[in-house]
Amino acid sequence: MKSVLGWVVAAAILLFALAGPITAAEPDWGDVRDPAPPPALAIGGYARGCLAGAVALPADGPGYQVMRLSRDRFYGHPRLIRFIEGFAETMRAEGWDGLLVGDLAQPRGGPMSSGHRSHQIGLDVDIWFQPEDRPLSEAERESRSAVSVVSGNGQTVEPAEWTDAHARLLRTAAGFAEVERIFVGAAIKRKLCATTVGDRGWLAKIRPWWGHVYHFHVRLRCPPEDAACGNQAPVPPGDGCDETLAWWLSDDAKAELERLRKLPPKRLTLNDLPPACRAVLGDP
Ligand SMILES: [Zn+2]
Repeated sequence: MKSVLGWVVAAAILLFALAGPITAAEPDWGDVRDPAPPPALAIGGYARGCLAGAVALPADGPGYQVMRLSRDRFYGHPRLIRFIEGFAETMRAEGWDGLLVGDLAQPRGGPMSSGHRSHQIGLDVDIWFQPEDRPLSEAERESRSAVSVVSGNGQTVEPAEWTDAHARLLRTAAGFAEVERIFVGAAIKRKLCATTVGDRGWLAKIRPWWGHVYHFHVRLRCPPEDAACGNQAPVPPGDGCDETLAWWLSDDAKAELERLRKLPPKRLTLNDLPPACRAVLGDP
């Protein structure tokens, strides 16, 4: 016969199972349709945070068009919106046909159900490598596929897709003081290392990372007034054209990617985020 204690434990387990984890009823950040009220605040880290007072990047502006409007990921910290508009204007003046802008953040930032680990505090933006000056229809913005500028083996840039203008594109982006780092596929960094003459200081901001062969990812540093925004460690000094880059192009990196792909996806809950994000998600 079961002891009283045994029944109590069994009942407790059953109750816990019925109640489920306390986070089960959390709304999905991706389902919230409007930004939280101002002031604008990037809260937490790039891959563990949220955003108050976000601003929507208009779908079109001088020198740029936003892609995949249905994803509702065109919100950012006002500083990111200003950066994109300024960068687009600068590139237009330099002769780039027009930027195609991918994901920024959700209306209140936060974790995304698909696609990115970061982009959570409104200071990250993906920009396609293909220029486009023709106004795209809404349907084209949904269906057009980006083209990789890196060859199939991941080791070199694709000669048919990569141009000197791409190097200038990245160099111009890195020239903005508010840009903290730019993620690109390792083959792209290698190409820039090999072809950059003169000043090489900007190469420090160009960081090799997985993927990022269809688009590059610009990350702004934390706005100085956002006390709750967590910068990541500064980029190492030097141009980064060294053994750290060589690793990204090695078999070890391939094995590491395989290992990462096998890990179960980690779904962040409110308990994983700074406490202030609870109010950001809950604000009407
Ligand atoms: Zn990105």
